[in-house]
Amino acid sequence: MKHKTLKLSAIAASCTLAFSVNAASTLFTNVDIFNGTEDKLYEDHHVLVVDNKIAKISKEAIDSGDATVINGQGMTLMPGLIEGHGHLQMNGSSLPDIENNRNWEELAVRSAARAESALMSGFTTWRDAGGMGAGLKKTIDSGELKGPRIYPSGAFIGPTGSHADFRNFTTPNETFNGPQSAGGRLGMSCTADSIGDIKTCARQNYMQGATQIKLMSSGGVASSFDPWQLNAYSLEELKAAVEVADAYGSYAMSHAYSKVSLLRNVEAGVKTLEHAFMFDKDVAKAMKKNGTYMTTNMTAFSPYLGEIEAINSNPASARKAKTAQAAFSDYIDNVNEYKPKLGFHVDCVGGVAACEQQADHSIFLSGKFFGNFYTLISMTSVNGEIVKLSGETLDPYFEGSLGVIEVGAYADILLVEGNPLEDLSVIGANEKWFDAPARDGIETMKLIMKNGKIYKNTL
Ligand SMILES: [Zn+2]
Repeated sequence: MKHKTLKLSAIAASCTLAFSVNAASTLFTNVDIFNGTEDKLYEDHHVLVVDNKIAKISKEAIDSGDATVINGQGMTLMPGLIEGHGHLQMNGSSLPDIENNRNWEELAVRSAARAESALMSGFTTWRDAGGMGAGLKKTIDSGELKGPRIYPSGAFIGPTGSHADFRNFTTPNETFNGPQSAGGRLGMSCTADSIGDIKTCARQNYMQGATQIKLMSSGGVASSFDPWQLNAYSLEELKAAVEVADAYGSYAMSHAYSKVSLLRNVEAGVKTLEHAFMFDKDVAKAMKKNGTYMTTNMTAFSPYLGEIEAINSNPASARKAKTAQAAFSDYIDNVNEYKPKLGFHVDCVGGVAACEQQADHSIFLSGKFFGNFYTLISMTSVNGEIVKLSGETLDPYFEGSLGVIEVGAYADILLVEGNPLEDLSVIGANEKWFDAPARDGIETMKLIMKNGKIYKNTL
């Protein structure tokens, strides 16, 4: 029997999804549930997974039938984590390093290693924010590699000299018959200076399997040519990108820092603002009116920001980081005051060990600035809503919800020792960043299930 996506209230006393008797099933007993949406635990519950979905949640004992029974021993059962903005294939130590020193083979192999590390850190879904098409996603979905569900954005779309421009000072502009950057040739970036080119880049990405498109609409810190204050795309240009996204039933996500750029993106119909450091009362109001989300890398507020190799290896970036941090000082207070729909994101550029450290430190910072509950929903249900903006037609995982524990949702489940609402270190949060010791998974994360399949079980 085919399961339908059900929109049910989070947890009724006992709710059931019809399922076929022969499907593989797992019964979790004696667990406290964090459902991804409520600031509480449902104590001493039982959860039945049939095939790849959550089929029943109950306070009463559930008949195990043929199910494999896992005694949760009073641990917390929670949704798998969702990265709201990551870059699996941006795995050199900096943008120039990726452009100059890493060929396709190395980038691809390292992206597979990053994907496995993400899953084994509890990230069962990953919105890839640019630099990669659907190849890795397809390989993981076919079962050949371990990794999260991936929502790829394809190539970054930005104008000449923007945060999406991978070239060196010595690379000619392709418009004048010069060769593309290595990033351009590999489909990691797409330079677009006109409305026509923006639409072509967007369409090319969708053709290659992107589930949403990623625009570089303002300057950035880790790139060479663009002041972070740059408002790179005009309203008309942003509208052109959104028009293509709309035609696919999908949406655009947009890297934007300045207030001008943020308001322009919201007006153009962009659905998720990335970084959005100049978020304030006016931006909050516009976002609310238009149903816009925001995702932010909290490491931008860390005193250790300047130690990131992608920044300290480039003098222009190091200088930009200092002025940017000073200009973004109201962000945290504004978020706490206006409470936008905020998705969690790490946005790591680097290899496995560096990105594990950065993810753990990001969880810590988010908890410190916004509290544990806001952090937990940003990593589960809010990011679950964000990935679903890709629309029923393009969503590769359209049959169930993500980021929630409810009947009919995909069985992407973690069992953790301890209560994450009280202590985020049970899902990896670490006050240390660069001096955190290398780790092999997260010890308190005892079980990791994705799509009904168990990838880790140390119970
Ligand atoms: Zn990014």
